[in-house]
Order: sequence, then structure tokens, then C-alpha cells
Amino acid sequence: MQTEKERTDHLSCDTCGRRFEPGEVEMTCPDCGPGLGTLTVHYPYEAIARELTRETLASRGEPSHWRYLEILPVSERPGALHPRVGWTPLYELPALARSVGCARLFVKDDGLNPSASFKDRASSVGVARALQAGQAVISAASTGNAASSVSLFAACAGLRCVIFVPQGAPEAKLAQLLMFGAEVLAVRGSYDQAFDLCLEACGRQGWYCRNTAVNPYLGEGKKTAALEICEQLDFDPPDAVVVSVGDGCIIGGLWKGFCDFQRLGLIERLPRVYGVQAAGAAPLVAAFERGARAVEQTVEARTLADSICVGRPRDHIKALRAVRESGGAMLAVEDEEILEAMRRLAREAGVFAEPAGATGFAGLCRMSREGLVGRDERAVVLVTGNGLKDVQTAIRAVERKPQAIDADLPALERYLAGLVPGG
Ligand SMILES: *Cc1c(COP(=O)(O)O)cnc(C)c1O
Ligand SMILES: [Zn+2]
Repeated sequence: MQTEKERTDHLSCDTCGRRFEPGEVEMTCPDCGPGLGTLTVHYPYEAIARELTRETLASRGEPSHWRYLEILPVSERPGALHPRVGWTPLYELPALARSVGCARLFVKDDGLNPSASFKDRASSVGVARALQAGQAVISAASTGNAASSVSLFAACAGLRCVIFVPQGAPEAKLAQLLMFGAEVLAVRGSYDQAFDLCLEACGRQGWYCRNTAVNPYLGEGKKTAALEICEQLDFDPPDAVVVSVGDGCIIGGLWKGFCDFQRLGLIERLPRVYGVQAAGAAPLVAAFERGARAVEQTVEARTLADSICVGRPRDHIKALRAVRESGGAMLAVEDEEILEAMRRLAREAGVFAEPAGATGFAGLCRMSREGLVGRDERAVVLVTGNGLKDVQTAIRAVERKPQAIDADLPALERYLAGLVPGG
């Protein structure tokens, strides 16, 4: 499906390296198949470098990730889509930096995207590609965020949207996708089973597939967070970037973003990237520790961080390559550390994150204890999803529950007297 004005130069297979012209394949390498045959998108970098400079970027008004159109796989900014995806704030948190033990700490809050998660970066590009290809139906399997995100953009674009969810997705995420008008199939089974069923359905029905790692263009949307970090730090990237990992698409995309900017001469050096998994769902950590380039064993995933509860990471090749090439690492944190990170982010940074959204910060806390981030270094932590996505776990994470009192002043005074020491 060659699009009218294809910006990309070619695609290459992450495993065998085979090269494909744009439009020759849409999803994965036919020789390696889905799983190993994920594709990387390449652009005509030399030509783009002449157009896309620090100055042209600085003069752009576009406060969304479409400001990087030259290195996105769509011919034009799709008018029918939600206008405000990406360009999320990067907060500097000096007090938190001191307590974590690094020189400067920044939090990028991607919970502020239109559907309240990082997935909007990928879904907007996925729906734009579907529109360009003249597709009428888009489909995805998701633990929730990818689904609610794609259903938002599909609704804006007038596409039919068919979603496969595993049972047990948090209610807020289900509410979102029903509200955006998606057709929702609750699969009796795990995320991994829902994913396989969705893939088969796309093949059979000819639906456009917005599935992580199968569709190479989604990572191109995810890379824009890295581009924004570079711009927001005046093209002087941090030493370390830390993010939570489920399938591995975000971390692979981030690394691609930094590499693209370096190839364009927009940044001089690259950060180390660190991926953080929940200990109960950490196949990438195991593969990293074995020195493997791929995940060979599926694990039975179990964590309260539903968005990263993945037993078989689909973008494993890119994720492992990102941490290895950059000199970073994959590490695991316990669910308790995730709950603690949620409380700290809320109370010390004013950022309310869902469990997977706070997992990167939990990882940074552990990294500082293990000396993986230096006292003189600058770190960026990505918050990937908003806390309102999963209020049940948020309530579980807090120690204090509301205190019931009678509706009069003496009752309040008795309460205050009990709380103030010596009062
Ligand atoms: C999807 C998701 C992740 C993990 O992204 P992967 O690309 O699957 O590694 C992390 N946090 C949140 C909130 C997510 O929705
Ligand atoms: Zn291949």
C-alpha cells in the first residue's frame, strides 16, 4: 500500500536485516514472521537534515508531536485527528533530585495526553496511516491504554474501531473506549491470547492493525517523546532516560528518536536508556541479564501495574537493542516499590500516575541506590499514564483513608486536637 507521498526511505528487518521499499510490506518481515521480524523505519536523513534544523524547529508554533512531520511516516498532518497529542510538559524537580541523588531530575508527564497515556503518540500515527491507506476499520488488542487511545483517534477520524481486551482491564479504561464508541470484545483469556486473536482477525478481515511490534509505524509515534525531551533541554540530552516497559515499544521508540535526532545532527550525544519492569512480569530483565538479544521464554505475568502486565513482550528485539546499544539496562521493581513511587510522585511532584506510569520513577529510585545514576548526572523519567486510569490501585496505595466526623465545629476541633501533638 504505497501512500501518495511516502516520506520514509525504506524499512529493515530487526532480525535478518532484509530491506523493504515503502509499501512493499506493511507490517512484519515475511521471512522472520511476527515476533522476530519487527521492522525499523528509515528516512532520507541527508535531505531532511537540510530542512529540519534547530532554528526551523524553534520557529514552529505547533504545540503537538506533529511538529516533527518530516520524520513521521505520514504525508501531512491529518486534519481530522485530535489536535493535541504530545508536546507534554517536562518538569524539573530539584528537591526530588536531591533525595534521589542526581544533579538534575526531570519528569515528563505523558499522562497529560488526550486519552491520558503515552499510547496517544502511537495511536495518532496509526490512525493517520490507516486514513492514508483508505482503511475503514482499525483494530487493536490492549490491556486498556492502547485501546482507549486508538478508540479516541478513530472516533475523531470516523473509523470503525474493534478492540480486543483481556478480562480484568481497569474500569476507567473500559469506560473510555466505550465512550469513544469502540466495539469491545472482552476475550476470555490473557492479554497475550487477546493479542493473537486480534492479529488473526486483522489478517482475515483486512482490518488495519494497531498492534504493538506488528505495526512498525507505532514506534515512530512513540519516538516523538525523545525528540521533545531533546528540544525541551535545548538539544542537550540527559545522561539517563528511564521508562516503564511492557511490550518494549516505548523504550525502542525512544531510542529510535534519539538516534534519528543524532543522525540529523540535532544532538551530539546519546543518553543511556533504562527500562523498568514489574518483578512479576520481567521477561526482558531476564533476557537482558542473560545477555540475550531476544526473549525466548514467556512468563506467567503478575503485577498490579496492568499496563505492563505482559508475559511475552512483542517488541523485545528493539527493547533489548535500545538498552544494550545505549549502555543502559533493564531492571525490575517490586509492586510495593511501584506503590511507593506513586505516592512520592503525587506528593513531591504533583503528578498523579497509574501504577505503570510510576514504574519508571520506582526504577530510578532503585538505580540511585545501586549507583546506576551518578551524583553529577541529569535524569529524565517518563510518566506514561495518568492515575485516574486506575483509581482502585491508587486507593490501595495510600495509607490514610477519609476520617468521618460530625458536621459541627466541636467535632472538627476534637479531631484536630487528637492529631496535633500535645494538643
Ligand atoms: C503501554 C504502557 C506502558 C509500556 O509500554 P510498552 O511499549 O508496552 O513497553 C507503560 N506504561 C503505560 C501507562 C502504558 O500504557
Ligand atoms: Zn527478517
